[in-house]
Amino acid sequence: MQHKFDVIVIGAGPAGSSAAYNLAKAGFNVLVIERGRKPGAKSMFGGRVYKAPVEKAFDDLDKAPIHRWVVKERISMVYDEEALTIEYDGRGRHSFTTYLTDLSSWMADKAVSAGAKLVTEVVVDKLLIEDGWVKGIVSGDEKLYADVVVDAEGINRLVLERSGLVEKLRPEHVALGFKEVLKLSKEDVNKFFGLDDDEGLAWVFMGEYTDGLPGGGFLYTNKDSVSLGLVIYLGHAVKELERHVYDLIERVRLSRIFNKYFRDARVMEYSAHMIPADIKALRPKRLVYNGLVIAGDAGGFLLNLGYTYRGVDFAAYTGYLAAKAISEASGDYSLESLSKYERYIDESFVGQDLKRFSGVHDLYENRRLFKEYPMLAINMMRRLFNLEYESTRFKDAFNESRKGVVGLTTLLKDLWGVYRKL
Ligand SMILES: Cc1cc2nc3c(=O)[nH]c(=O)nc-3n(C[C@H](O)[C@H](O)[C@H](O)COP(=O)(O)OP(=O)(O)OC[C@H]3O[C@@H](n4cnc5c(N)ncnc54)[C@H](O)[C@@H]3O)c2cc1C
Repeated sequence: MQHKFDVIVIGAGPAGSSAAYNLAKAGFNVLVIERGRKPGAKSMFGGRVYKAPVEKAFDDLDKAPIHRWVVKERISMVYDEEALTIEYDGRGRHSFTTYLTDLSSWMADKAVSAGAKLVTEVVVDKLLIEDGWVKGIVSGDEKLYADVVVDAEGINRLVLERSGLVEKLRPEHVALGFKEVLKLSKEDVNKFFGLDDDEGLAWVFMGEYTDGLPGGGFLYTNKDSVSLGLVIYLGHAVKELERHVYDLIERVRLSRIFNKYFRDARVMEYSAHMIPADIKALRPKRLVYNGLVIAGDAGGFLLNLGYTYRGVDFAAYTGYLAAKAISEASGDYSLESLSKYERYIDESFVGQDLKRFSGVHDLYENRRLFKEYPMLAINMMRRLFNLEYESTRFKDAFNESRKGVVGLTTLLKDLWGVYRKL
């Protein structure tokens, strides 16, 4: 293989393929190195992608493997096999469901069609650093050189860690996500969730399924399947989780609320992956070094607001910005020159969102949101609706449900926290 490239991209996920595609389009000689059998083979996500940033990074998004356009949003609090749900039935086409494996393959194909070279089943061990410059990568006994390297290796970021550019991941900084893809017919997906053929549902829930630990669950409708999963903050899970994560997801599938959809469904796939959680702690000191730019999850670019996850669109967009900064560097890949990338990030919606929601992680440390409040909500609904003879006043239902669960001052403080941080 040729040993010198203009750019080497580590990882063919959304961030890597976006950088590679935009650089190859701009005429750079790009090599993408992917450790999986094919792009996306090692990737995993919940199921929904926001369109606009991906459309900015890639042309022809209408040819991407889009399953359904999300028109329905559901948010549920679950306690004791009952749920209180808010539903938004919209009309927009702002986000779509897909399999990340297919979307990643499509993105990598775009990069290859634009002229990038892709090698798979090759693991980058570390960066090749000489005299304070990243000069390429090391894989086994082989050294490959490049003028600049884009690190888009995702959240594990062992390459950055081994090269001494980030610290080892700590459990309290990440969450663990696991999901099942359940096969249903297209007609059943439509019928069960009240959808037309290309319409989709995004459903997030919190409460008893994570055993009171910070985290939550998700359900996304694909064309003829459903992605069902849970996310739990790893710092809490390693200390307190008493059962296997597989038992947790099985409990969701078999629960009263979800089992009606999945009685005849076949589990097509089971997967687990880490997700950036404490974004402030995960952001590397610098996103650029001499000869290096960091994009996607490796840079800690993910927003989890509880009701929505944004990782794929952030990854694609940061890959696009990495390509823009490299293209504009006109051959000067020093830290000073590439630091334009950091400015682009901070000025973009990615940087602004991460700043605006920088306190959101603290909310996940409030255990009441995951246990006491779902319990309060369901108890209140029971008092309001499970009537025999007398009806209940709202304030009595609220006060009686709250008693012994959470004090009024604490509740007001928590509400204020949610109001300020979300
Ligand atoms: C449970 C869960 C639910 C999620 N839900 C959503 C959602 O609904 N919507 C959303 O937008 N985002 C979601 N995300 C986040 C989203 O998946 C990520 O933010 C996104 O995939 C990040 O893209 P990336 O390109 O940075 O990294 P990845 O997609 O992780 O790609 C990194 C690539 O680099 C390769 N690689 C890693 N190390 C090496 C190496 N040493 N050598 C060669 N190749 C290497 C990997 O094999 C992989 O292909 C979710 C994530 C999880 C885990």
